[in-house]
Amino acid sequence: MPPANNLMTAVQSFDVAILGAGLAGRLSAWQLVRAGARVALIERGGPDGSGSAAHVAAAMLAPLAESAIAERRIVDLGMTSVDLWRTWIGELPEPVFFQEDGTLVVWHARDRSEVSLFTGRMRAVAPPDLVQQRLRALDGEGVGQIEPALAGRFPQGLLLQGEGQLDNRGAMHALLNCAVTEGLHCVWEAGDIDADALPALGIRAGVVLDCRGLGARAAWTNASAGGETALPGLRGLRGEVVRVHAPDVKLHRPVRLLHPRYPIYIAPKPNDLYVIGATELESEDESPMSVRSALELLSAAHSLHPAFGEARVLELNVQRRPTRPDHLPAIRVDQQARVVRVNGLYRHGWLIAPAVTEAACAVVRAMLGGDPAAHAVPAALRWPGMIEAVQERGTAMLSARAGAGSGLLH
Ligand SMILES: Cc1cc2nc3c(=O)[nH]c(=O)nc-3n(C[C@H](O)[C@H](O)[C@H](O)COP(=O)(O)OP(=O)(O)OC[C@H]3O[C@@H](n4cnc5c(N)ncnc54)[C@H](O)[C@@H]3O)c2cc1C
Repeated sequence: MPPANNLMTAVQSFDVAILGAGLAGRLSAWQLVRAGARVALIERGGPDGSGSAAHVAAAMLAPLAESAIAERRIVDLGMTSVDLWRTWIGELPEPVFFQEDGTLVVWHARDRSEVSLFTGRMRAVAPPDLVQQRLRALDGEGVGQIEPALAGRFPQGLLLQGEGQLDNRGAMHALLNCAVTEGLHCVWEAGDIDADALPALGIRAGVVLDCRGLGARAAWTNASAGGETALPGLRGLRGEVVRVHAPDVKLHRPVRLLHPRYPIYIAPKPNDLYVIGATELESEDESPMSVRSALELLSAAHSLHPAFGEARVLELNVQRRPTRPDHLPAIRVDQQARVVRVNGLYRHGWLIAPAVTEAACAVVRAMLGGDPAAHAVPAALRWPGMIEAVQERGTAMLSARAGAGSGLLH
């Protein structure tokens, strides 16, 4: 691990200072360093990332499964991002578990009404050719063929072919190590900082890239708050997951159990580890997992396979997903203040972060190159509406969606 380096006396200059070393921060640091930028990464916690949503996530890369509860934009960002993950993980010097063996969806007989809701929502949102290529109905024998551990347990299932997952902690470790090897400067245990705190840390930067997730809440005011929506510009949605060691289970791919209250998944990770999740509660509460959630998640796993009864509970994790009012990701660009903010990755961060951060890094690079309309570079315009040009300091926030009136601030 890179050494802690937070006691600087002399001022050091960088092209980019990235705030927050969670998912968006590490991915962006890795991309920008590889593009030749001098980058400082500043994080309130330590290098293990344990204070991030990224650390507790199941890191499933499931655009089709998520289309049952998300918008088309997430499916498109997800499809692009899974291609990027495949390439980028292959370029990391240390191996990271990455799998594209699909998602298995099963249900108990009492919950069978959920199936038509699930497939109906999927068909309404995902591109028809994607559904056609990837959705496969299975009978009981088919379920047993692809997951022998579940043979005889479910008379029907759905296979969402080609969906993926990765080892989130391994990926965070590998991205950081690779970026440090290529010259990334890290400041750990910096406390809760914002862009104004950089001089006190001895850092001067051409552009600040804010990847603090929910920690950036104060910067994401909602222009329409108090109007048609009372939701804050950025809020946390509580999610709870259990990590268990279950050497007797032997699942090969993520399994989703359709359930009327929340979608439950069980994602197998290397070394017989399983992530069982996830609750989604409209709450900012950071306190430990409730008994109810633990019972429901563990009962669901036990109902999927009784050998989970002998699993060992390693972690009961709680984190809050950084969420925008529309549940979509956003990038805000203040050309004058030279700040770019990436946020709103919500429950899809691992699925969509490559495409989102690639767009943000393209904007940062254009700003470094002196482009006066950096928010409108082609990589940004690829995702209309995701990039917003703003002027944060002043009486009112001016905003112009990239591609529509984007000359407003220039
Ligand atoms: C229970 C759960 C399960 C999930 N499962 C999946 C999944 O299966 N698939 C998927 O695609 N996504 C999943 N996600 C979503 C994904 O984890 C998030 O969308 C993603 O981590 C958000 O990335 P981020 O970089 O914006 O924030 P984070 O990953 O939270 O990183 C933010 C970083 O900024 C740091 N920070 C915050 N404030 C400050 C400050 N003031 N100063 C300095 N540093 C600061 C934090 O310590 C942290 O390291 C899940 C999330 C949860 C909670």
